[in-house]
Amino acid sequence: MHTDGMSTTGQMDEVYPVLIVGAGPAGATLALHLGRLGIKTLLISKHHGTANTPRAHIFNQRAMEVLRDARLEERLSEVACDAAHMAHTPWSDKLNGTEYGRMWSWGNKPGKKHRYEMASPCRMSDLPQSYLEPILVGEAAKAGKQYPVLDTLGIIVDGKQLNTALNVHIQADLSRYMENRPGSLNWVLNTEAPEWSAAGNFRMVRPWNEWLVSMHPANIDGRSFEPTNEQIQGRLKQMVGDNDVEFEILSSF
Ligand SMILES: Cc1cc2nc3c(=O)[nH]c(=O)nc-3n(C[C@H](O)[C@H](O)[C@H](O)COP(=O)(O)OP(=O)(O)OC[C@H]3O[C@@H](n4cnc5c(N)ncnc54)[C@H](O)[C@@H]3O)c2cc1C
Repeated sequence: MHTDGMSTTGQMDEVYPVLIVGAGPAGATLALHLGRLGIKTLLISKHHGTANTPRAHIFNQRAMEVLRDARLEERLSEVACDAAHMAHTPWSDKLNGTEYGRMWSWGNKPGKKHRYEMASPCRMSDLPQSYLEPILVGEAAKAGKQYPVLDTLGIIVDGKQLNTALNVHIQADLSRYMENRPGSLNWVLNTEAPEWSAAGNFRMVRPWNEWLVSMHPANIDGRSFEPTNEQIQGRLKQMVGDNDVEFEILSSF
């Protein structure tokens, strides 16, 4: 993406003082801040669009402060879920089964909550990458202006690949399991689990009907295993423990 400086023939006709390679959350935030500071920046990505899967989501208060400084806090509050939606992290054998335990999470623990509130004007937020990136990149584009040419500085901003799990992006109404324990990360551990998904996690994308279900293998030994759609459906049902729940698989990665 460029903010200006492209000729009608598609050839770059300008030199940019800053080049950012990678338009994920880090690159786009950097481009936005530089643009707001009046530093002309070229932000490029290998993809045509912004993130098509939710990936990064839990933003702590310091990260939210960076977005507040970028004057985006209000806008992002429309797409972010606040701390109350991620009050618990529970562990159970299935969502509809025995709960082994749960802990208060992300600054929600009664008796400690005030410390988080006093530490920052911002709140912990659940902000899926697929909702954040279009806003960040759009604002970074708006911040672009014409500035004098300086020496070029190339900044590579590419997050590490976390390929230790199969992530299944689904739609399913799981609200009944969240009524009493709203949580962003809901762990499932049971002995019937297959080797390729020994542990799993229902991560909330939208409360409470869009999820990213991570399925972690028993061993990380470099073997790749690609379960069939049927196996994934079966594992999802087993993790919920309720045959009446309908799943729509949006993607897996
Ligand atoms: C299921 C899941 C859950 C996660 N949960 C969290 C979480 O809660 N919190 C968290 O912080 N992180 C989480 N992560 C990790 C998260 O994805 C990264 O933290 C986040 O994406 C890092 O942002 P980034 O901008 O540094 O990198 P990326 O999002 O990886 O962005 C880098 C961009 O650069 C592009 N790029 C790379 N190389 C080039 C090149 N040579 N030329 C042009 N473009 C290039 C990439 O295509 C990409 O668009 C999660 C990941 C997964 C898979």
